[in-house]
Amino acid sequence: MEMQGKVYSIRGNTSIIKAEDDKFYKGILKSSLPRTNESILAVGDIVEIYIVDEETAHIVNVLPRKNKIARPDPHDKEKILVMASNIDQILLISSFKNPDFNPGFIDRFLLYSFREDIEPILVINKYDLVDVVPESVKIYQQEFDVLFVSAETGMNLDLLKEKIIGRTSLLAGASGVGKSTIINKLFPGINVKVDKKNVKIVKGRHVTSYTTIYELDKNTLIIDSPGIRKIKMDMMDPLEVQWYFPEIDRLSHYCKFSNCLHLSEPECAVRTAVKNGEISQLRYSSYLRILNEILNYIKNKGV
Ligand code: GDP
Ligand code: ZN
Repeated sequence: MEMQGKVYSIRGNTSIIKAEDDKFYKGILKSSLPRTNESILAVGDIVEIYIVDEETAHIVNVLPRKNKIARPDPHDKEKILVMASNIDQILLISSFKNPDFNPGFIDRFLLYSFREDIEPILVINKYDLVDVVPESVKIYQQEFDVLFVSAETGMNLDLLKEKIIGRTSLLAGASGVGKSTIINKLFPGINVKVDKKNVKIVKGRHVTSYTTIYELDKNTLIIDSPGIRKIKMDMMDPLEVQWYFPEIDRLSHYCKFSNCLHLSEPECAVRTAVKNGEISQLRYSSYLRILNEILNYIKNKGV
């Protein structure tokens, strides 16, 4: 019998598929599927399966991905690892304190989600730990919808739940910001391990645990991909970075050179604006961090 299904997890060669009949099957990839430089199968993929028995299904086709979160394979630069696909939104969770609010992480993900055309939802947790909202956070409030929450007191979790229900969200955020606590509070039955051991050491190499989907209800999915934290900027034109920093982009038209990257070029309107406070130093630093990641990537790849 043939039907469609969705990939819920992948470990090595084993995948778990939730099929249209609401049952879970162990998915076996047909070797005849076309190979590209991208992962053949990713969590979130819609697949056509052929049910073999109660537990097993053959994956006969992988439908085109609506979108994807991917990164270069650290062990093979020619390959692209797809960590998750078919996502409605990225839940970008950070915290005010423990760990400190980290603009570098947020900017990278904002840029990433804009580039992939996936809506980001900015959530800042542990509001109970602060008295005043720091400047570094206020900058984001000017440009984006930001939701302050506290998993501890429950503040605004109802608002967050509204945004999650009925959609597929990718969970992103550094370790310790409270991702598991938030999900457990929102969906008490789900039991995301708070003290999860994400990282195993295999022959001295860090191996992050696997991408998994949590099914909160039939239409509400959360994709948790620990590897997402390591996402690096890649394969992007350095000149494009500023598109995602509107205040930098606006001023770049006044730079002497049309291809100014605002690093150390002469008569750079952006650097002047940073010096006189028109552009926030924090945003400029984030811009530089991302730009340097891309420049390094290009240098190492030799393109
Ligand atoms: P994860 O690594 O992002 O999944 O973070 P966890 O959910 O494991 O949370 C890390 C730590 O932060 C735990 O000790 C939580 O109890 C704590 N924590 C989570 N949310 C809050 C909050 O809103 N306020 C405070 N004060 N602590 C929190
Ligand atoms: Zn410039």
